[in-house]
Amino acid sequence: MGARYDLLAAKDTAAVMSTYARKPVLFVEGRGMRLYDDDGREYLDFVSGIGAVNLGHAHPAVTEAVWQQMARLVHVSNLYHVEHRAELAEDLSSLLGGGWKAFFCNSGAEACEGAIKLARRWGAKHKGPEATRIITAERSFHGRTLAALAATGQPSKQEAFAPLPPGFTHIPLNDLDALDSEIDSSVCAVMLEVIQGEGGVYPCERDYLTWARRLCDDRGALLIIDEVQTGFWRTGETAFAHQAYGIRPDVVALAKAMANGLPAGAVVAHGPAAEAFEPGDHGSTFGGGPVICAAARATIAALKQEDLGARAARDGAYLRSGLERLARETGAIAEVRGKGLMLAAHLTRPAAADVAAAALGRGLVLNHIGTDIIRFLPPLVCGKAEIDTLLQVLSELLEDGDGAP
Ligand SMILES: *Cc1c(COP(=O)(O)O)cnc(C)c1O
Repeated sequence: MGARYDLLAAKDTAAVMSTYARKPVLFVEGRGMRLYDDDGREYLDFVSGIGAVNLGHAHPAVTEAVWQQMARLVHVSNLYHVEHRAELAEDLSSLLGGGWKAFFCNSGAEACEGAIKLARRWGAKHKGPEATRIITAERSFHGRTLAALAATGQPSKQEAFAPLPPGFTHIPLNDLDALDSEIDSSVCAVMLEVIQGEGGVYPCERDYLTWARRLCDDRGALLIIDEVQTGFWRTGETAFAHQAYGIRPDVVALAKAMANGLPAGAVVAHGPAAEAFEPGDHGSTFGGGPVICAAARATIAALKQEDLGARAARDGAYLRSGLERLARETGAIAEVRGKGLMLAAHLTRPAAADVAAAALGRGLVLNHIGTDIIRFLPPLVCGKAEIDTLLQVLSELLEDGDGAP
């Protein structure tokens, strides 16, 4: 660690609120899946800013789009039409199969918050004033603002902030009976992640999602899919994870990888849900600004052009089989979960933080969840050679005893 690290880390501790236990490194540059610290040391990035930099760091097409738009016009607000916003909405609609409308915001929490407000507005118009309740899953994560936090199914993140907005019911994921017994006339929406990300990479079963769709149709509730982490080809061949399940949600929340690391979010909806908001119902000063929309359009175009969904599927399968081999060889991995390049190794011991810290010392950036889950969210440009390096280091660390049983 260099002198700049020491200086900035000390200032950060003194001047920035302590909401994160930051790792002992200062990244100053990135290219593709590689990061560089203030000493010029190279790292392979298996976190990509928590699944936000799907194209890899400093992608020239995004840089160029931002640069061009920055030089023309940065901000006028949502009171006016601007370039790129309508075209981005069209891009998102066509990725989702056509017929969708977007509301633009700046983050995943805001996208979920917007989806919640949209569902309540829809409920009041189409079901009645009592239809305000939203069902979400235990262990889910939908963001840190108060309503998104109330939707989040993790009491440890919620307890300090009571009272949270009412109207949220949490049920166990993949439990059809629980869903069946909860959806009644007081429910306006069911909100699910296809693969729970922050909760530890727990996927929905196929039957569960198709039944959730059917139950929502039968009982007149919206199905909201939170694709904030799973979106933009993270899970492989399809742009959005739900598309591999053959279902069509009513509302989708998007953010993270949408503008390759710049703050962008969207609520997209079709059918009556897309018409539920009226002027004055919801808003954002910065959402849908021309710079971010230009960045998002360039991101989507490059993800398609480089066929990164196919790479995420192929290299994700390669990483998964490598982790499964490590599980057999070391006995230190109890389960491998996830899809595409959104994977987790659930360790047999509470050693995830130690493994990630040791890996950082060996030039690998890894994320750990809780005490025993290591999550892999590399940029989708990650290749077999980089995965081989990861697997080699992991096998040494797990055999060294950092994660061994
Ligand atoms: C990260 C995340 C959010 C919150 O996004 P922020 O941009 O941090 O507000 C919401 N939902 C899911 C599924 C996420 O992974």
